[in-house]
Amino acid sequence: MATLLWLQGGACSGNTMSFLNAEEPSACDLVTDFGVEVIWHPSLGMELGEDVQRILRECASGERQVDIFVYEGTVMLGPEGSGRFDMFADRPMKDWVAEIAPKAGAVVALGDCACWGGIPATTPNPTTSTGLQYLKGANGGFLGKDFTSALGLPVVNIPGCPAHPDWVTQIVVALAAGRLGDIALDDLQRPKTFFSTFTQTGCTRVQFFEYKQSTLDFGQGTRTGCLFYEFGCRGPMTHSPCNRILWNRQSSKTRSGQPCTGCTEPGWPHGDLMPGTVFKTQKIAGTVPKEVPFGTDHITYMAHAAAAKVAAPQWSKEDMFVV
Ligand code: SF4
Ligand code: SF4
Repeated sequence: MATLLWLQGGACSGNTMSFLNAEEPSACDLVTDFGVEVIWHPSLGMELGEDVQRILRECASGERQVDIFVYEGTVMLGPEGSGRFDMFADRPMKDWVAEIAPKAGAVVALGDCACWGGIPATTPNPTTSTGLQYLKGANGGFLGKDFTSALGLPVVNIPGCPAHPDWVTQIVVALAAGRLGDIALDDLQRPKTFFSTFTQTGCTRVQFFEYKQSTLDFGQGTRTGCLFYEFGCRGPMTHSPCNRILWNRQSSKTRSGQPCTGCTEPGWPHGDLMPGTVFKTQKIAGTVPKEVPFGTDHITYMAHAAAAKVAAPQWSKEDMFVV
């Protein structure tokens, strides 16, 4: 039986809400079918007050073994390095993290805030927030770039705002079953099984992307066209399986007419967020996208775009779903 402790730092609880909607496997399956013992979770734990302090002291001292430590939210270092912006169980949360993480078998950073700092760590970062082992794209974060857990793993990053629930439950199952060897990580310590492909992989609009046909409306009447050209979709440069492992087993942002904002990448939220820049493709000279799909460059992109527009068949300009 593997034990799991879940703590929340600078967080909105979005990843907990997402986790509770997991289906394959569900949060209950983790306990009933996979033998995970939840030591404590902020929304599910029955203990309060001094009982929580006792549990955390036991985990921090090593008296109680934590096999999987899931952390949601940023680690807040402010003000002035004291961590007192985020007090929990009578001390700064950062102090609990510093003591529990090295003793845990595996440490999982869940959601953008825990992975890279997310929105709280975006400039001006008033709480001096950081991710567990990254601050934005820079390796280091709170635990330092050389950190490894008791089983010799770096922090396993499962980003997203929030992360898809099944990404975390499937990794917890692998860890609980001792299948560490199955969890290959990419350069940003994300499980490759989820983060090798792009949001665009499996998007129903990809044929319109290929012929450079833009959708015209945001969120409605958008079954035709692609959201890359006008609405800032980051599907071609974002590693996520959002169109392979659908949300609620039903849909995805791009399938419902919303652009992918690239929430699984450390630069999220991308851009300066000034009025008029969100959900809008940023362009050079009003025509060429500032950012082109991963793995290409502007010259190749422009040559491809010109040829694709000329080659675009009539169906690529129509709503093919109308019968
Ligand atoms: S750019 Fe976005 S909307 Fe267009 S095909 Fe790629 S993921 Fe789909
Ligand atoms: S579609 Fe894009 S923005 Fe939405 S959850 Fe997936 S990676 Fe994040």
